Amino acid sequence: MKPDYYKVLGLAKDASTADIKKAYRKLALKYHPDKNDGNPSAEAKFKETAEAYQVLSDPEKRSQYDRWGHNAPGSMGGGFSAQSHDDFFREMSSMFGDLFGGGFGRNQQRQVRKGPDLNIKLVLEFEEAAFGTRTGKNVQIKRPSICSACGGSGSEPNVPLTTCGTCGGQGRVIVQHGMMQITQTCPHCSGTGKIITKPCKTCNGRRVVEKIDTVSIDIPAGIHSGQRLRVQGAGGLSPDGGNPGDLYVTIHVLPHASFRREGTDVYSDIDISYSKLVLGSSVEVETLHGPVKINVPPRTRSGSKMRLRGKGVPVLNSPDTGDHYAVLNVAMPPVVSVEVKALLSELEGYMQDIK
Ligand SMILES: [Zn+2]
Ligand SMILES: [Zn+2]
Repeated sequence: MKPDYYKVLGLAKDASTADIKKAYRKLALKYHPDKNDGNPSAEAKFKETAEAYQVLSDPEKRSQYDRWGHNAPGSMGGGFSAQSHDDFFREMSSMFGDLFGGGFGRNQQRQVRKGPDLNIKLVLEFEEAAFGTRTGKNVQIKRPSICSACGGSGSEPNVPLTTCGTCGGQGRVIVQHGMMQITQTCPHCSGTGKIITKPCKTCNGRRVVEKIDTVSIDIPAGIHSGQRLRVQGAGGLSPDGGNPGDLYVTIHVLPHASFRREGTDVYSDIDISYSKLVLGSSVEVETLHGPVKINVPPRTRSGSKMRLRGKGVPVLNSPDTGDHYAVLNVAMPPVVSVEVKALLSELEGYMQDIK
């Protein structure tokens, strides 16, 4: 037993033609095979709504259906699906063409290729990685770019193009897609509607050529060696007019002469005299954020780490900053002179006395 066509579309018997069209459009989109991953119950619903729409959208068939129900005379065994499928699909295309071309166009996107993704290695100074580059770092890269000889048309200048025979210059073709016919970008002319008769000599009609370009890359503060940045759209240009590829930048940070970085913390070695360690002193420590004075308390052991809060590397994508650790080491006198020897011998004698 076939379901009631009005119930299928969720309409009352007195629904207007506009209501029928609106209700069908909504349901067809809901149950479209593209949206349901080939779910068989959705496909059955899709066919059911299509059949209901075929009948109710045709005034003559509708009045027959209203009078006789599914047993209308001349409807071959109670079916109304006698309308030629070609006619039906043509009508559906006119109703949905744009929508499926844009929203459902999985196939369409395959034809217009994205430009190639590119990978580069970027070497940064220690400070550049720590603080980032607010104005962007200019990098020279070789990438597919618009051919300047033909301005990206792919054709020899002053040689006219011919109209594409596949789409008749429309740039779009209608193809069978599952149950539906949908419009797609013409694969022959890539949607331009024109065919190049004499390809540009510089790019061989590819519209793009490999060129050295300068790209400005924003370096976020706190980046570290081995991290990869993605610069959207900074890769190669698509020869089909699709989106450009992306640029992937692998970061390599150069070592610093006096700083070592561990995550967001920075370490530096400070040579300090034995007497200052024993007696206590004030020492100036160089940090990424400038010199900082620290107090070394009396009897500080060699190898002690003095923590300078917030003087390290900014934390990536965060307002926080790591710390600086000054590692205190005993400085050796440059020369062990007679005087130094005498003083230290005296001290050594004293140290033994107090054992
Ligand atoms: Zn074409
Ligand atoms: Zn060219």
